Amino acid sequence: MIHIDTVYINGEFVKPHGTKTLTLINPDNLDAIGKVTLCDKKDAAYAIKCAKEAFKTFSKTSIQERGEILQRLYDAMSKREDELNAAAVQEYGSPISATRGRTRFAKNSFLTVRSQMNKFNFEQTLEDGSKILKAPLGVAAAISPWNANYTHICQKIAPAIAAGCTVVCKPSEYSAKQTQILCECFHEARLPKGVVNIVNGIGEEVGSYIAKHKDIALINFTGSTKVGREISKNAAKMIKRTILELGGKSPNIILDDANLDTAVPNALKIAFSNSGQACHAGSRLFVPESKFELICELLIKSLKEIKIGALYDEQCYIGPLINEAQFNRVQSYIASGIKEGAKILTGGLGRLEGFKGYYPKPTIFTYVKPNMKIAREEIFGPVLCVFTYKNEQEAVNLANDTIYGLAGYVSGKDLQRAKRVAEQIFAGWVYINKGTYGGKGVIPHVGAKQSGIGINGIDDYLQFRFIS
Ligand code: NAD
Repeated sequence: MIHIDTVYINGEFVKPHGTKTLTLINPDNLDAIGKVTLCDKKDAAYAIKCAKEAFKTFSKTSIQERGEILQRLYDAMSKREDELNAAAVQEYGSPISATRGRTRFAKNSFLTVRSQMNKFNFEQTLEDGSKILKAPLGVAAAISPWNANYTHICQKIAPAIAAGCTVVCKPSEYSAKQTQILCECFHEARLPKGVVNIVNGIGEEVGSYIAKHKDIALINFTGSTKVGREISKNAAKMIKRTILELGGKSPNIILDDANLDTAVPNALKIAFSNSGQACHAGSRLFVPESKFELICELLIKSLKEIKIGALYDEQCYIGPLINEAQFNRVQSYIASGIKEGAKILTGGLGRLEGFKGYYPKPTIFTYVKPNMKIAREEIFGPVLCVFTYKNEQEAVNLANDTIYGLAGYVSGKDLQRAKRVAEQIFAGWVYINKGTYGGKGVIPHVGAKQSGIGINGIDDYLQFRFIS
């Protein structure tokens, strides 16, 4: 059992002032892995003070110096890649093949941003001699969710460093082991003192304190829409810059000419990726009425082919949910779907047979109506809602009938038609004939509607000033 009893502030591993502890549970087998001592507001205040102090010098560093730091961060993470993978598998039950991809993506964000920085115009001179200066904004707050914790942290701190900002980071409290390894990487990379400061802690206490603090110039938050609203509301009081990457309830339209042998397995992959705990999950599936029976048969058949559990098996696709609260939350949504009259095609209430950990039964609901709770709210677990449509326009209307707009998916043989439909889905990312998601590089990452306020990268961390 490990005890993580230090945090990384001002270039040192220090004992936090906070004394509360949180036990870390392996969601796959329910073994206790260890515990983490949580920070309190005093720790957060200290981290902000150090970041503010460090900003005075870091904001004046050269592009070359920052480029070297980004390279060292990449190198340090590369050395610890296996340990980061192991921590993510153990701490949140993420299957190994998906974990590897996320770790690679995390470390690559440093190099991607470095090459963007090298081409970036931090100062522009106009024809009449006036200038546009793009200066580092100040101390940034980075708040991350537990799913892909270190990927989000790296994606947030890389552009901050490139811009010359310092950072106070509040990772998810459920990812302490992953965070600890990451802090060791920061130390190994010889980050200047106070440039990145990490405080483990409870969101409502420490996260909220950081987000409201007067010395935080920018909040880069990834998490639920509910918390995003709270952050946005508080930021408004100080007209603070916010970048929000929030929840989703993404639609997947199978057109009537789609190749069902690929479209149906793909639909399950994008719905149940990361065990359904993915912001991009295609959790609402729209199928042509005329193909409903056939697609249902194929969904059942395809689900049987998906490997669940044995997290180190390369074929494993679905693991457990992160914790008991998340397991219970998913159960309550399944119960609500049943109560509201949706039909269970497969799955249902309870734990998946033969598993000890937080494994719900992957569940597919049919006869889902747009006003049902399971159709409207993000469940964040392996629950897929199937709807039927009569024509293309109805499919698009149903797909867009949501407060969210993170992603969308379309399958169809006629590519022109598929593109036409994709362009009508109002979401940040729309994929055609794909069973995976994610773009090349880290930016732009843009959620529409209540899925967030987009990320453009280095620009976000800069104050533009016009000198005439
Ligand atoms: P969450 O909103 O509960 O927590 C996210 C982070 O915010 C955690 O570090 C938490 O401690 C902190 N927090 C909680 N309350 C806070 C407050 N009042 N003030 C400041 N910080 C606070 O989300 P979660 O359960 O950790 O993650 C799942 C959610 O994240 C899902 O809704 C998912 O869709 C979303 N997500 C979105 C993206 C994206 O790119 N759009 C990516 C991953 C996850």
